[in-house]
Amino acid sequence: MFLNMRQKPQELIYVEALSNRSILSNKEQRKLAALSAGHAGECEYDRLFDAAGHGGLLIYRDIWMKVDEAVIQADSLIVADGVIAVDEVKNFSGDYKYAGGEWSVGGRPGYEDPLAQVSRTAGKLVRLGGRMPYRFDVQKKVVFVNPDMNLEFNSEENQRFIVGRPRLREHFSELGRLSAGTAARENARALRRFFIRNPMQLPVTDFKRVRMGNYCYVCAAFDLSIGKYKVVCRRCGYTETTERMFVRALIDFSVLFHDRKMTSAGMSLFVSHVLKPRTVRKYLSKYCHVRGSSRATYYVIKSIHLKKLLSENGYASKYETDERFRAVNV
Ligand SMILES: [Zn+2]
Repeated sequence: MFLNMRQKPQELIYVEALSNRSILSNKEQRKLAALSAGHAGECEYDRLFDAAGHGGLLIYRDIWMKVDEAVIQADSLIVADGVIAVDEVKNFSGDYKYAGGEWSVGGRPGYEDPLAQVSRTAGKLVRLGGRMPYRFDVQKKVVFVNPDMNLEFNSEENQRFIVGRPRLREHFSELGRLSAGTAARENARALRRFFIRNPMQLPVTDFKRVRMGNYCYVCAAFDLSIGKYKVVCRRCGYTETTERMFVRALIDFSVLFHDRKMTSAGMSLFVSHVLKPRTVRKYLSKYCHVRGSSRATYYVIKSIHLKKLLSENGYASKYETDERFRAVNV
């Protein structure tokens, strides 16, 4: 049982917003590619785990924890009776080799060592031992989900901790054989005390490089015919509600300019004054927390995840035609 949603990481939402509204540097392009691939790999892992079945196992996804002074992150944390298993999920493709503690990619040294990452996380979890209601062993695995990856390693030892795509089903069925009762439930609950928000700081964005206005949800063209309730893309014909277009702009502003206060005047400018100030204020009050005094009101977005933000704040437009955002699906 998955205990929480897997959301896009905030760094990915940031770079996507930037790529829609600016020209990315080479470094930013590589970041976007890596984050997109990583997130897609984690979603693929979830899909395969769902298909294999995870029964009563209690699974947290993409969580950050603080243990003593150390901050750790887990792509997938699986809690069973007597076991906490951590899976580090990778979506690498190409030829990888792991030998003598060194990774190489296509013959060149790899940038990261996923086994070292997951070992560090597992080590911190071991330290929680005395502070949890039931005893547990910690298991760790690096899981490669991409079928286009060739992995070579040179020892039995490595094989214990590395799961390539061909062995994924076996890995999930091994986990599926663990039982999860009272001990798992109590430990899963106790773990929450150590959860923290994603502590990674987003970069500060130069206002001048960001394009104001509104772009199509599907093709990203800044070429919209904007009505009171509906927006139509002149490039691809996609129809969106004006409210949803504005909510996307709110998210863009919140991640790109997280260091600034979001005001109704600022948001009006950001969407190039296509909405009446009264409408801007109405939507801001709906999707944001209102802060500051009445003279200097500013707004803090309730969530940067589009579907969550819409569904938890009463988005229900009769003009919505995209199935992905119909009330039942949101
Ligand atoms: Zn379009």
